[in-house]
Amino acid sequence: MHTHQKDKFLNDLIEYANTDTTKEVCGFVCYKDEKLFFKPAKNRSKDNDIFIINPADFLERKLSGELLAIFHTHVNAKENPSEYDIENSKNCLYPFLIYSLTTKGFHLFDMPHFERSEKGVIKLKEFLDD
Ligand SMILES: [Zn+2]
Repeated sequence: MHTHQKDKFLNDLIEYANTDTTKEVCGFVCYKDEKLFFKPAKNRSKDNDIFIINPADFLERKLSGELLAIFHTHVNAKENPSEYDIENSKNCLYPFLIYSLTTKGFHLFDMPHFERSEKGVIKLKEFLDD
C-alpha cells in the first residue's frame, strides 16, 4: 500500500548518502501529514568521520514541527551508533537514523521520551523493516 512512498523515501536517503563516499553526509528525516520525507543538511565538520549540523539549521527544522530524526551516514563503519552518536542523540532528544555505505544497512537509535511523533517513528520503522 505504501510501497511507492516507501521506495521514494528510502531512495532519497540512499541517493543522498552516496553523494559523498569519503565523508559523512547528514540531514533531517521529516514527518508531515502522515508522510515521511528527507531534507539534506550541510555537514560542517572538517573531520570525515564526524558530522556537525549548524544549530540554526537544526532549530529551523525543529520549529517547523516536522522533524522526526537526524540522519547521517557512516562511510567506513557499520550502521550501529557510535558512543558519540548516542550521546548527541540523547542531548538533542531526537532519534538518530544511520545508514552505512559499507553494509548498506540502516539503524534507528530511538528512545521513548524523545521529542518526535510516535506515529512517525512507527512508520519509519515499518519502512526500514520491510
Ligand atoms: Zn555516527
